[in-house]
Amino acid sequence: MKTAIIGAGLSGLACALTLEKYGHQAEIFEKRQMVGDRFVIAEAMFSMLHTPIDDEIRYLSDTHGIHLTPSSNIQKVFCYSKNESACLDGSIGFTNMRGKHPDSYEKQLAAQLNSTIHYNHNVRYDDVKNDYTHVILATGDALDTTQFQPYDVAYKASFKGAVLAGEFNPTEAHTFFNNDFAPKGMAYLLPHSQSEASLVLAYPQYSENEDLDKEELWKMCYEECSKILDQDFKIMHEYSIKDYRIGKIEHARIGNTFFVGNCWGAITPVFGFGQFESILTGIYAAQDIAGYGDYQKLVEPLSQGYHDSLSLRRTIEKFDNHKLDLIIKSLNNKALEGIITNKNINFFKLISRLVHPFSRHA
Ligand SMILES: Cc1cc2nc3c(=O)[nH]c(=O)nc-3n(C[C@H](O)[C@H](O)[C@H](O)COP(=O)(O)OP(=O)(O)OC[C@H]3O[C@@H](n4cnc5c(N)ncnc54)[C@H](O)[C@@H]3O)c2cc1C
Repeated sequence: MKTAIIGAGLSGLACALTLEKYGHQAEIFEKRQMVGDRFVIAEAMFSMLHTPIDDEIRYLSDTHGIHLTPSSNIQKVFCYSKNESACLDGSIGFTNMRGKHPDSYEKQLAAQLNSTIHYNHNVRYDDVKNDYTHVILATGDALDTTQFQPYDVAYKASFKGAVLAGEFNPTEAHTFFNNDFAPKGMAYLLPHSQSEASLVLAYPQYSENEDLDKEELWKMCYEECSKILDQDFKIMHEYSIKDYRIGKIEHARIGNTFFVGNCWGAITPVFGFGQFESILTGIYAAQDIAGYGDYQKLVEPLSQGYHDSLSLRRTIEKFDNHKLDLIIKSLNNKALEGIITNKNINFFKLISRLVHPFSRHA
């Protein structure tokens, strides 16, 4: 058995590590010159999105032998709408670094690996299909799946972000739900350390958003963040992403070709997070190859999670700033906060099923 993995990101590396656990070595092809060869940002995993798994890091370690060290444990998430604010308390999730940062998750995974990574190899499926018994498509790019099957695009996202220098509490994250600068989207600030943080503005590129001036939205977002945190930040570097596809394919596996991470549809549409799901798809594909499961079946709960999340997004998208204010205000109700952060209730799944009871197809 010979396995080629195209892409040394989260899903590809998790797949290779799991294959090694079962005694198989994969060959990994990475188009860049090193793992994580892109801009540095902080990303997050919020446990409330993965209930009943209440600690993704421990779960990956104990259940799958994938060991990750996050940058910090989030103890508070501040939520802001145009006129209201609330704070969720507890062990809410983790922040971690991505990209060139020495502690980025992709670098941590690569450090645990024995398999060969062929760098500077921008590989197409046709380049490897005849030389390997199994191919894993893990390029992080939805467009790469369209030669095999339709990729159902839920929406294309536009991102603008920056690394800010200032004073931050690494255990506190800040989220902004304000249609004035994040139309049908959100902005969030995730600390890297006490002196650095990532600010991200993300919104869907719907036709009604097309004429909006992204730089103007970003300026408003930055000013709101500065005002709320009462600081004049120094912008260390900025980046902008367009046409980031969030969607899903139907078949997780076709023949001996496996679609993992973003190439499968790992990003949950409501907030656009997909790290945990990407890692899981890589693990599940490896389990199938090693004879310990059926990939299509293993991803079913994730598939259901995707559809639930999309239903919730479609509902939230209809909210104007007034409704967003009411929701954020209601988070100050301790009983509601208790349900959202409850380790046994997946609040987001519950709500998505209530708002769209028939969206249950995996
Ligand atoms: C700005 C931004 C912020 C985000 N924030 C969060 C967050 O806070 N929390 C969260 O959970 N998720 C977040 N996400 C989503 C998360 O980053 C992705 O879900 C996850 O990285 C997808 O993993 P992957 O393995 O599919 O792809 P990646 O990790 O992107 O890896 C793909 C790899 O394939 C390589 N590659 C591509 N094409 C080829 C080719 N032809 N040949 C060889 N190699 C190739 C690439 O260079 C890359 O190394 C964010 C995404 C963005 C864009």
